[in-house]
Amino acid sequence: MKHGIRQLFIPGPTNVPDKVRRAMNVPMEDQRAPDMPDLTLSLFRDLKRAFKNETGRVFMFPSSGTGAWEAAIQNTLAPGDKVLMSRFGQFSHLWVEMAKRLGLDVNAIDVEWGAGVPLDAYEAAIAADTSHEIRAVFVTHNETATGVTSDVAGVRKLLDSHSHPALLFVDGVSSIASIDFRQEEWGVDLAVAGSQKGFMLPAGMSFLSVSEKALAANRDNREKLPRSYFGFTDMIAMNDQGYFPYTPPTQFFHGLRASLDLLFEEGLENVFARHYRLAEGVRRGIAGLGLNLVAVERKWYSDTVSAITVPDGIDANQVMKIAYHRYNTSFGGGLARLGGRVFRIGHLGDLNEVMCLGALASAEISLLDAGAKITPGAGVAAAQTYYREAHEADGRLAAE
Ligand SMILES: *Cc1c(COP(=O)(O)O)cnc(C)c1O
Repeated sequence: MKHGIRQLFIPGPTNVPDKVRRAMNVPMEDQRAPDMPDLTLSLFRDLKRAFKNETGRVFMFPSSGTGAWEAAIQNTLAPGDKVLMSRFGQFSHLWVEMAKRLGLDVNAIDVEWGAGVPLDAYEAAIAADTSHEIRAVFVTHNETATGVTSDVAGVRKLLDSHSHPALLFVDGVSSIASIDFRQEEWGVDLAVAGSQKGFMLPAGMSFLSVSEKALAANRDNREKLPRSYFGFTDMIAMNDQGYFPYTPPTQFFHGLRASLDLLFEEGLENVFARHYRLAEGVRRGIAGLGLNLVAVERKWYSDTVSAITVPDGIDANQVMKIAYHRYNTSFGGGLARLGGRVFRIGHLGDLNEVMCLGALASAEISLLDAGAKITPGAGVAAAQTYYREAHEADGRLAAE
């Protein structure tokens, strides 16, 4: 029997704040009640704020994030459409696989795992496409498998500089509501998020935030992929009234209301700053142990997840098993080709410095048990030093 709290340091599902969990603990209610729109319309409005989407709209689907990937494609693209994608981790890989299965003509650029969206290669493809055959360009904003964040604004800039009309698709499942994301400013047409990462909810809902341009692409008379459950038209007709074309997860709505309130109470910019600070402490800790990130350069570092390469001769899966069974801690594993060589610390959602220090302490002790030659406490000490400096620099210690 385990005592205390099981430490959850996977990059989703993340910890659900007590306030959110309690908000969901309500009796079942009538999803067609006359006052249901008071709740649902407030959610649509505030989700737009979270995405910084001013002129478009947000869909909520009862699915995990993967469902919104599919909805984005089906509603705006046709079989055989040319799309530009890139692959540098398990999630960007899976989106490419989905696009192929759905019948798109995919140009998938392979990038070394540890880097992100290749702006140069994208620019070359866009510049060469003078007849505008590329219908959509895809960006995995935060590759959760490798801990790599890509430059969405940079992709928008190069599309604009070539006056290219392609739709811009962004997977923001592990970035939106945790790190800087500006849908309107960056001209993102379809942005995908899920409930169980930055939104601090259980898994089971996806959010798809779309621009006016994406809605127009959905409405135009070009034939699209077949779609039914995820079709925009039925959703829009009902959502405009505050209802859904099928039974929605109403308990979730109360949780989402609470999580959006928490995000806006803190302020999105403060949420982003907190994620940077917590992540930087974890990174200092990893460096303090003499270990390396999968992300190959600082410009790619993710503030929501760190993928860590274990020393030669150490089995990362063994480290994770020890962490789980002996020390009651869940870390993320190395996905696909990173299996056995990498473990991940998810540092997004409802967490603070001491929790991150706990993650580092648990990683250290598990690495030691697995045979790694590291100095006990070196990671924790480096992170402590950074967190103290960061707060002093903020002037917060003086203010408190
Ligand atoms: C978690 C994640 C997904 C998949 O989301 P599900 O909710 O598991 O369907 C997709 N993309 C990224 C970047 C993710 O982190």
